[in-house]
Amino acid sequence: MSSEKATHEKDFIVTARKYRPQTFGDLVSQAHVSETLRNAIQSGRLAHAYLFSGPRGVGKTTGARLLAKAINCTTPLSERDRGEACRQCESCRSFEEGRSLNIIEIDAASNNSVDDIRALRDKVIIPPQGARKKVYIIDEVHMLSNAAFNALLKTLEEPPPHALFIFATTEPHKVLPTILSRCQRFDFKRIPVTDIVGRLKEICSIEGFTADEESLVLIAQKGDGALRDALSVFDQSIALCGTDLHYVELAKALGVIANDLYFTITDLIHQRETAPIFSFVQDLVTSGADYLEFVGGLSGHLRNLLVAHSTKSGALIEAAEAVQQRYQEEATRFAEPDLLRMLQLVSEGEQTLKTSAQPRLRLEMMLVKLVTMPASVDLNQLLRHLGRLESQIKSGHVPPAASSSGSSASPASSPPTDGGPPALVSKPTSYVSSRSIPNADPPPTVAAPAPTTVLTPKVERAQTTSRTPVSYEALFGKPALAGVTPAHPTKVQDPETPSTTLSQPAVRIQVAEKAAQEDYNRIFFQANKHWSDFLSRIKRGRIAIFGMLNQTRLERAERTTLMIAAPDVMHADLLTQQRDWLASELADVAGLSHPPNLTFYIQPAQQSETAQKTETEANDPYQQLQRLSQTNATVRALIDHFGAEIVW
Ligand SMILES: [Zn+2]
Repeated sequence: MSSEKATHEKDFIVTARKYRPQTFGDLVSQAHVSETLRNAIQSGRLAHAYLFSGPRGVGKTTGARLLAKAINCTTPLSERDRGEACRQCESCRSFEEGRSLNIIEIDAASNNSVDDIRALRDKVIIPPQGARKKVYIIDEVHMLSNAAFNALLKTLEEPPPHALFIFATTEPHKVLPTILSRCQRFDFKRIPVTDIVGRLKEICSIEGFTADEESLVLIAQKGDGALRDALSVFDQSIALCGTDLHYVELAKALGVIANDLYFTITDLIHQRETAPIFSFVQDLVTSGADYLEFVGGLSGHLRNLLVAHSTKSGALIEAAEAVQQRYQEEATRFAEPDLLRMLQLVSEGEQTLKTSAQPRLRLEMMLVKLVTMPASVDLNQLLRHLGRLESQIKSGHVPPAASSSGSSASPASSPPTDGGPPALVSKPTSYVSSRSIPNADPPPTVAAPAPTTVLTPKVERAQTTSRTPVSYEALFGKPALAGVTPAHPTKVQDPETPSTTLSQPAVRIQVAEKAAQEDYNRIFFQANKHWSDFLSRIKRGRIAIFGMLNQTRLERAERTTLMIAAPDVMHADLLTQQRDWLASELADVAGLSHPPNLTFYIQPAQQSETAQKTETEANDPYQQLQRLSQTNATVRALIDHFGAEIVW
């Protein structure tokens, strides 16, 4: 038994060495390099010096050895497969058995002095024995000292015809330009996970190992683009888990946080459940996982969801096919801006976690924030809803949303122009007022299976029958993350678009659930809409007051008062003296049932500054929105009364 084990240990060769490519065809993912080199060998157009650059473990040294072997192969080119070494002749065998004297490998990391290079220079003049070329492979060439570089340069300027230099480096920018300019440069690239998985599958089938695809993807990911590293992890995996690899077991053995945990977190976010967060973190701590590694993994997970959401495909996700599919399904549950904000939150959380003395608390806070994060609503959609509300108020009742009466009831409204992006999240879109329920002949869409919301007036007021308080949810639907999606959402042609539209179609506004003083908001919208008519009326009636009023701006509704900004004390005082008359005129023009409360307050004009900024801000949606929030009453109202916040 013990002798058998000893033999086994003696025979064991690490996989990376055992499966080192022996032909250019075996070189994984570097076809652009191997094809060019094979062509050069075939046509006999070889350079004196090559520079192979690229990350570690991607095949630079292997490529150099393959080139050295193929150049020196004694089998005639016509009998070889497009410049590949024959692997039969004496030269090829001496290379493969490591006894060739015509290949000299120097590690510049440890032989970086000028003396080392001088010694090399002296040897270079000696011709090769029984071969065409003597090949010098200088690994990590960027580690050479400046003096050594200069000594090397001398040799490169006038190389003996039998010498071929191959420099390998992970940091080509550190190599002197004078050296670079004398080399033919090849950039080796990182090896994609799928290619590493393919290679691992080949090795498994040769060795008789079994592994599920998720395991191989995990091993390939651990390699981080380097086949050599992935093969080391592969050896480690076989040592830990035996010759039959299963993902869950392997993830545990390698100390990797399994995908499932991240999906659990996004499930909790979707369901908006905070309670399980704490036991989740407890389990994470018990399993010995590293907080930062977990948060890093969560970033990657959210990134994958974003990719799946944006591309509608899992192809760009480095994962097994089943997991890619899972990402695609999971991604449909979130809106893109929400995924972006989650990523933002997580990356901020990662920063605080690094420096925090209480990482667990920070992690829990971050996760709870994610779960309680309010959902995004499309701004255009929001404005359309407001426009609809406006028309409803104007027409004196709340019509069923999809019926044509919605638009015909508001002759002053703009024509329907639905140029905005599709709604991010399906929401209940039908509104039925309490009075329209007995209607014997409801519009067809009301009969559709979309959820309908019945609006009941909160307070009955005889003189204001036209005002039906509308709840926030009835207007905008449930929060996007609450997961309430109608099974068959009704498509509703929006009756009209609001008078305020933005040049950027997809600017989103985050809306928290905060509905207040609906009555005055509606009065505000009406007043704002008819403000210029109101000014004209005052101009006709009392030109002096118009002169002052024209300097003011209707800003917002504050509780039960319309706030009007005046440029100075004089304007504010004089207009305040006239406010009863102004209020009744405004009520008349705007079709309000009774005169609104008006308050004039002082806000110095900032016109010149605004004009200056307009130019530079023109193309920045965030700036545009911010400016709108100051100058546009509708946006202002969204922010003040619906708790909207500008997110870009
Ligand atoms: Zn050969």
